[in-house]
Amino acid sequence: MFYNVSKEDEYLFQGKRKRLVEILKTKGIKNAKVLAAIEKIPRHMFFDTSTARPALLDHAYSDKALPIGAGQTISQPYTVAFQTEQLAISEGEKILEIGTGCGYQTAVLIEMGAKVYSIERQKTLFDKTKLFLPYIGYKGAKLIYGDGYKGLPQFAPFDKIIVTAGAPYIPNDLLLQLKIGGILLIPLGEGETQEMVWLKKVSASNFDKKILGNFKFVPLLQNKSGN
Ligand code: SAH
Repeated sequence: MFYNVSKEDEYLFQGKRKRLVEILKTKGIKNAKVLAAIEKIPRHMFFDTSTARPALLDHAYSDKALPIGAGQTISQPYTVAFQTEQLAISEGEKILEIGTGCGYQTAVLIEMGAKVYSIERQKTLFDKTKLFLPYIGYKGAKLIYGDGYKGLPQFAPFDKIIVTAGAPYIPNDLLLQLKIGGILLIPLGEGETQEMVWLKKVSASNFDKKILGNFKFVPLLQNKSGN
């Protein structure tokens, strides 16, 4: 069911990952743990098996967003590295991810030592990633099929919340489920690009806010999909 590569291929992919890490450094990523995670995780295995042609695998370690099935994409490595760095994760922190997709960002968060909760609204992607992450050795995450706009009140509060799809507005439920002192990172906007919004909850109703540049995401959609 999942794409598998030979030992020689694996050696080749390790070299490609090292080069990707160098590219991310030149683009400004500094956090050593983030870079180590990108160097370790086999990104070429995260693609949709039906589209995992050699041509696509060749691009697995270029700094691009690529298809993962169900009309969704795996985020660009720079975006994943940037968001992870901005979360400033400490070992053992409880993190909520909205938009599991193929689970690549989830694997990066696990490598950071976080306790990860991740929500996906596409049933087919959810079913696949739930099998795939443990298959490649990432067993610790709690994966949930649901609507990320609502967060996970039963597991709140969270130290950090990361949204990996472009939102038309900041869902109030996510603000409520953040710890005081916690950070929410959310790409905001419905157009071609989104502004990366960084919010720190300084009290129950007060937030510090920064805008961290423009990025490109698939949209954050309302409600669960039936398939
Ligand atoms: N984190 C992924 C990014 C996947 S793209 C990675 O590492 O590559 C964004 C994902 O968000 C898609 O899989 C999409 O189906 C999902 N999504 C969109 N709206 C959502 C919502 N309301 N709740 C949960 N997931 C959502």
